[in-house]
Amino acid sequence: MNITIVGGGFGGVKAALEFAKESTNQITLITDKPDFQYYPALYGAATGRSHLESWVPLSQIFAGKKNVTVQFDTIESIDPSAKTLSSKSGTVYAYETCVLALGTVTTYFGIEGLETYSFGVKSAAEIEELKQHVYADLAEGRGVDKRYIVIGGGPTGVELAAALGSYLKRVSKQLNVKDSNMHIALIEAAPRVLPRMSEKASVKVQRRLEKLGVKVQTGKTVESATEDMIMVSGELMTSDTVIWTSGVANHPFYKANAEHFEFAPNGRVVIDSHMMAGKDLYVIGDNAATQFTGLAQTALHDAIFIADNIKRSSTGKPLKEYVAVMPPVVVPVGEFWAVFEWKKIHLTGIVAAMIRRAADFMGYSDILPIGQALGIWRPHRVLHETPSLEAVEVKE
Ligand SMILES: Cc1cc2nc3c(=O)[nH]c(=O)nc-3n(C[C@H](O)[C@H](O)[C@H](O)COP(=O)(O)OP(=O)(O)OC[C@H]3O[C@@H](n4cnc5c(N)ncnc54)[C@H](O)[C@@H]3O)c2cc1C
Repeated sequence: MNITIVGGGFGGVKAALEFAKESTNQITLITDKPDFQYYPALYGAATGRSHLESWVPLSQIFAGKKNVTVQFDTIESIDPSAKTLSSKSGTVYAYETCVLALGTVTTYFGIEGLETYSFGVKSAAEIEELKQHVYADLAEGRGVDKRYIVIGGGPTGVELAAALGSYLKRVSKQLNVKDSNMHIALIEAAPRVLPRMSEKASVKVQRRLEKLGVKVQTGKTVESATEDMIMVSGELMTSDTVIWTSGVANHPFYKANAEHFEFAPNGRVVIDSHMMAGKDLYVIGDNAATQFTGLAQTALHDAIFIADNIKRSSTGKPLKEYVAVMPPVVVPVGEFWAVFEWKKIHLTGIVAAMIRRAADFMGYSDILPIGQALGIWRPHRVLHETPSLEAVEVKE
């Protein structure tokens, strides 16, 4: 069977690995970047950990997989009746079975100045830009107080704000900056941080953030941004660095090809009980309107589900119906402390931090052989490293 997968992230890579187990399958993975992005560790790359923990070359993942071809290209449109995909490079790819796993993009909700004056944390290039800025700003502005504002009290904002303080201390020591005070604020529009977790978790996490020196402001909305100020619920706040961790929207590919898809109110694609959005067309991961969309574990679950069903259909077995599975949530808040929740289980502190480390290892071993997963998983602390831009930039 020939399977064309678009997107080299959690869903696309896992689907390719699952399909590759059948030697009669031929898989073409079309993606716009040479690396798999391990998003859960990305904030760490901005706060003193190595980029090696968060981006893994696709060539490493698919080494030795003879029935997988990785094609670097950007898919722009689909014609489900002709069963073709068209790309930015002008190539038209015919498909037999197509899996779309394009992920999401950052949205700024039209907030004036925010896109220009804030740093993002969603791509390797954005992380690199943030790191260079933080370093240069500290190096140049000795003796001047520094104000860092993290917008968004979801898992990424919380993890980043918590890790920032100790990273800034280490960089200041490295640069011999002794006389600057660091102010870190976390702003969240909802009444509490981690609004998708329990209230108990939010209270403990806020307390922990405050202990780490982060000033938490909930129920506050960012209204506009300039180079050195942001307007928050009618009040001006001075800022040296604004980091936007909020605002995720479905990939614009779907709106650009809206005549072929149906959309849920949150902009994700409506799929049937087999994760199909059309004949021989599957939509998985962050793109699909499932109950737990937006999580890496959901994308992995979706990939395994469709690979199994496609195998079933080729062998004449009855197809399974999609069942959403609630993944556990574990958010690190500084070193050796995390909050973990799954169904009725609620843990905080070092035990939860250990669960997070184990979860990360399982995340890497989902896409790599155990030995390589271990190599990436072990902590690589660096202060200020400049990863090879070849590994960061989009290759087209
Ligand atoms: C900063 C951050 C932290 C996160 N932390 C966690 C966490 O701790 N736990 C958790 O469960 N989830 C976390 N998530 C969410 C998780 O990463 C996503 O749910 C998961 O990546 C979704 O997988 P996906 O395959 O749908 O999309 P992605 O993994 O985003 O993959 C999409 C792929 O498509 C490629 N692509 C995009 N457009 C095109 C195009 N036009 N043509 C070809 N290729 C294209 C992209 O380059 C990428 O390779 C986090 C997300 C972010 C941004």
